[in-house]
Amino acid sequence: MDLRHWLSSAADEIGAWQREFGDFERHPAPAVTDGDFAEAFAELAGRLRDNYPFFHPRYAAQMLKPPHPAAVVGYLAAMLVNPNNHALDGGPATARMEREVVAALASMFGYTEHLGHLTTSGTVANLEALFVARETHPGRGVAYSEDAHYTHGRMCHLLGVPSFPVATDGAGRMDLQALETLLRTGRVGTVVMTAGTTGLGAIDPIDQALGFRERHDVRVHVDGAYGGFFTLIADDSADGVPAAPFRAIASCDSVVVDPHKHGLQPYGCGAVLFRDPAVGRFYKHDSPYTYFTSEELHLGEISLECSRAGASAAALWLTLRVLPLDPGGLGAVLRPGRRAVLRWTELLAGSEVLAPYQSPELDIVSYLPRAARLSEMDRMSVRMMEAGMAAPPAEAVFLATYGVGAAALAARGHRLTADVPTGRILRSVLMKPESEAWVETLHAEVEKLAVAAG
Ligand SMILES: *Cc1c(COP(=O)(O)O)cnc(C)c1O
Repeated sequence: MDLRHWLSSAADEIGAWQREFGDFERHPAPAVTDGDFAEAFAELAGRLRDNYPFFHPRYAAQMLKPPHPAAVVGYLAAMLVNPNNHALDGGPATARMEREVVAALASMFGYTEHLGHLTTSGTVANLEALFVARETHPGRGVAYSEDAHYTHGRMCHLLGVPSFPVATDGAGRMDLQALETLLRTGRVGTVVMTAGTTGLGAIDPIDQALGFRERHDVRVHVDGAYGGFFTLIADDSADGVPAAPFRAIASCDSVVVDPHKHGLQPYGCGAVLFRDPAVGRFYKHDSPYTYFTSEELHLGEISLECSRAGASAAALWLTLRVLPLDPGGLGAVLRPGRRAVLRWTELLAGSEVLAPYQSPELDIVSYLPRAARLSEMDRMSVRMMEAGMAAPPAEAVFLATYGVGAAALAARGHRLTADVPTGRILRSVLMKPESEAWVETLHAEVEKLAVAAG
């Protein structure tokens, strides 16, 4: 699809709708001449060059990529109206689109009933899930793995709930024995299982943790902010991901997924889903300035946030119209990244200068320069990252670092002298399907960086 064509179609369509309401005089106060605008815009365009090329397979660092053109066009079209999805009165069309996309997300996870909505981020979505958890399990804390997203601890603090980080195993997954020991104390009311950790892409054993629900009377919340969409390829196939943990999400109490990570959306789009619609009672509020003109569900009644961009819902709705939540739609966009990490891990295992840190479960690769001492590994990783970024654009390689401890390295069979307690390895999120065709090039370039850093 031609982005420029569809961007102007979006402006034309909204303009045509606006003209139906008749002419009126525009106030001069916000008017800007083309000349003045051109100058300001040129400055903006210049300043935006100070960015990393998230769109290019040379960028193999953090979880960043531009949105799909369909999302850009959908967002722009709705933004020209600027609906607020707090209430149907803020924009009926996008509020209904939000309910449709949320229903699609719920059925992707296998929820037969649900209550949920979009949020501005995964952090806020998790906050809502933990808020509801505090209400259903008052006086008890929240457990999550040591490798869970850092915001769980922060949000527990905000909610005034005790939090309990649980040890991870040699693959970065929550250690269920450590969890059970903790649950026996009775101090935990909610367990957060991460479906794809932000650092390593490790998948906590959600299916096995479900057994604790009745035994210890706990809620199970799944943080699928990064990995949730991999449910679409959770089929145990060679280029898919394991089915069991993803299938278990259907039986968990709540789940979070970030369309602004693997759902091809611009930032400002997370989602929280509850399996029991009755949790809506915890959001009850009343104020003199909000009113609801119909009995239909208003999203502001089940959200901690008030104003939210209707444009986010329109963008996601339009994207899912063309790339639906099935293996042939968005699933086919995820598989190449999975194949890319598997191929790269093979290449890393055969390398004389690099080694894979562990086997990847999603589309995130972690690896280290072969070094004798931990301090040397750290210094080389940082040099490689810096040298890769400093090269001219057509030769640059963008990598990220990841901090690990000596015990975590040893648990994965890496024999380095621990002359310092922690150090950095390298990490690449291969979330663009284009990475698959680039992986040999990427490996060769990263090997060169390792040789130069040695
Ligand atoms: C990214 C991420 C979050 C936080 O989501 P934001 O949208 O960045 O606020 C939470 N959990 C996991 C597992 C993540 O990867």
